[in-house]
Amino acid sequence: MTVTPAQLRALASRADALAAEVRELCLSAPAGTPEHDHLGAAWQARERLSAGAEDLRRAAGDLAALQARPCGMPWGVCPEHGNTLSTRAGISTCRVCRREWRHDRFGRPCEEPVTWKVIDRAGAETRMCDGHVLGARAAAAGATFVRLEQADAHP
Ligand SMILES: [Zn+2]
Ligand SMILES: [Zn+2]
Repeated sequence: MTVTPAQLRALASRADALAAEVRELCLSAPAGTPEHDHLGAAWQARERLSAGAEDLRRAAGDLAALQARPCGMPWGVCPEHGNTLSTRAGISTCRVCRREWRHDRFGRPCEEPVTWKVIDRAGAETRMCDGHVLGARAAAAGATFVRLEQADAHP
């Protein structure tokens, strides 16, 4: 099973909700009553739940950063059109959208974020970006393409 940042964020929200419930319950004890004076441990629990929610959100961010690692295929592509780059005089241009990169993008390893997992017929797994998956779809008959969860930009 793959852990996703979204799962961690969902747990963080539940911890937040629990912390809020504990707070509400504690506040409902009238001041000056014996209950009110014996809720110290509950208040501490509320703080730990809030801290736990923070930690879970941090873990979600770490995981998202890991999953956003670069594609790393040995040649560059247009992120939208794939293997459509022409390079002349050190400038790479997409033949479809005419987007330009002022370096030999085709000659460098791909730095686009990994967004797909491709499993070929033999079961070998490769992770790659949107642009590279276009070429792989054309070339790899019988392969399985799995879209990876987008790293949420709002932690
Ligand atoms: Zn393009
Ligand atoms: Zn790529």
